[in-house]
Amino acid sequence: MAVDSPLQSRMVSATTSEKDVKALKFIEEMTRNPDSVQEKVLGEILTRNSNTEYLKRFDLNGVVDRKTFKSKVPVVTYEDLKPEIQRISNGDCSPILSSHPITEFLTSSGTSAGERKLMPTIEEDLDRRQLLYSLLMPVMNLYVPGLDKGKGLYFLFVKSESKTSGGLPARPVLTSYYKSDHFKRRPYDPYNVYTSPNEAILCSDSSQSMYAQMLCGLLMRHEVLRLGAVFASGLLRAISFLQNNWKELARDISTGTLSSRIFDPAIKNRMSKILTKPDQELAEFLVGVCSQENWEGIITKIWPNTKYLDVIVTGAMAQYIPTLEYYSGGLPMACTMYASSESYFGINLKPMCKPSEVSYTIMPNMAYFEFLPHNHDGDGAAEASLDETSLVELANVEVGKEYELVITTYAGLYRYRVGDILRVTGFHNSAPQFKFIRRKNVLLSVESDKTDEAELQKAVENASRLFAEQGTRVIEYTSYAETKTIPGHYVIYWELLGRDQSNALMSEEVMAKCCLEMEESLNSVYRQSRVADKSIGPLEIRVVRNGTFEELMDYAISRGASINQYKVPRCVSFTPIMELLDSRVVSAHFSPSLPHWSPERRR
Ligand code: AMP
Repeated sequence: MAVDSPLQSRMVSATTSEKDVKALKFIEEMTRNPDSVQEKVLGEILTRNSNTEYLKRFDLNGVVDRKTFKSKVPVVTYEDLKPEIQRISNGDCSPILSSHPITEFLTSSGTSAGERKLMPTIEEDLDRRQLLYSLLMPVMNLYVPGLDKGKGLYFLFVKSESKTSGGLPARPVLTSYYKSDHFKRRPYDPYNVYTSPNEAILCSDSSQSMYAQMLCGLLMRHEVLRLGAVFASGLLRAISFLQNNWKELARDISTGTLSSRIFDPAIKNRMSKILTKPDQELAEFLVGVCSQENWEGIITKIWPNTKYLDVIVTGAMAQYIPTLEYYSGGLPMACTMYASSESYFGINLKPMCKPSEVSYTIMPNMAYFEFLPHNHDGDGAAEASLDETSLVELANVEVGKEYELVITTYAGLYRYRVGDILRVTGFHNSAPQFKFIRRKNVLLSVESDKTDEAELQKAVENASRLFAEQGTRVIEYTSYAETKTIPGHYVIYWELLGRDQSNALMSEEVMAKCCLEMEESLNSVYRQSRVADKSIGPLEIRVVRNGTFEELMDYAISRGASINQYKVPRCVSFTPIMELLDSRVVSAHFSPSLPHWSPERRR
């Protein structure tokens, strides 16, 4: 093989196994001529799905070329596909979107009318996901040698699942993957040995699952070479869990017996083979380390051989970088892949780069990709252009430009707007690389929750009804995702105006009710995170004194904002603004209990 790509030159200098060479060659193959791969992928999707009700509507008449496809099939959002999705979820098995049977729905963290979006998927999608996973370690091995000499401590979880009215499972994509034979019966691979047993990962009680996974990680602490979770928020939850439970974990280790809080029979059985005898020395070490006030660098103290954290810190997760740096003593953070419920997209070919430099190379075999140029309008707000003819092919995107990702999948999404905004940073061979910029319309996010401006507005409206009769109104509000504490929580700043035009003082009881009402009004992903996952803490309302939002406007204008165009930001993160708001707080209130949530959809 001629050495002309950075990946290849690394391959030559690293000791690469035959399996890795095969995977790396595959990446090279896919990225050398992405355009022809894309043409083939679209051809396959359109040929096999030509008899679907959806495609028949657009009179493609068996033509599968890109030009015809683009001229006849519209760009759509989830709302456009809702009638079809609803019919499939009600049990209609006719080929509506896909000629292959829809085997389950993947519940996205993106929502529609407050509920998780349902993404159709077909059996063979599992192979595609596994293929992308199989590329990650061969790339990592080029940068970090010796990962076969130890284990990965990964905190992986399944979430509760439900069935649609037609009987199809509806669950998150990772739950689907971990429960599949692809994961459960994976062949032994020295580069993918985890400390967590399958029994712990597959237990849907997240507290028992976490306890068992943490215990295994502690017992095998010297073998751990990498430590991770899917997203940064998940890894920080694990640290917080350790903070709250280290005494009990140390007790188990010192006695060699498993805490009675673990009652899942499969975990108990498996742990009886892992926790076989007391280890007084390890228990004393843990007590010594964990009882210290200062937890800076705790990860490297407990797991001294960790070479990197394997965790996504791009996009909304970037807010967790400083906290992770604190706990890990500055270990590198590897963001390895970019994926969604709709499709897996791509991988990071330089996984050890700084978080701010992460770019993902989209693998052109995963789906057919198009790019909607993303235009910035005058006042800084950005909206994607809706001109359907302006969509750009994967191979034709331009460096420095931003696009919204649009995909066509084997499972039957056609020209579907994912809602992610990406910026082209360069190319690997001929395949573009993208920096994840942001998700459209997301105002607040603590972990997988995504709250948009309309949802926040509705929640404020619903809560303020609780005191409307007294003549008091919320005259301005803004919000902030507090993520320095674990779990993070939403903070909403309110300026109130009473009937007599003065600062309205509300009772603690009413304000607490307002907090809960806001939570009840937020979408199901938020409520699930609060109730089932406990990954978001109680919502907080901070009442600020009268005139605060006017001061905020004065501040913005002093920094160059136009008075005509000034709009109250509905979410703030800029330190001077936060300081201004916090210095004007007259009272703070928390949600007193959990909002409602059940795995069943509301409708
Ligand atoms: P879901 O549909 O719940 O699986 O969420 C998928 C979404 O998570 C994507 O569309 C992105 O917005 C976000 N996401 C996934 N991977 C990454 C990543 N590596 N960096 C930033 N955001 C990501």
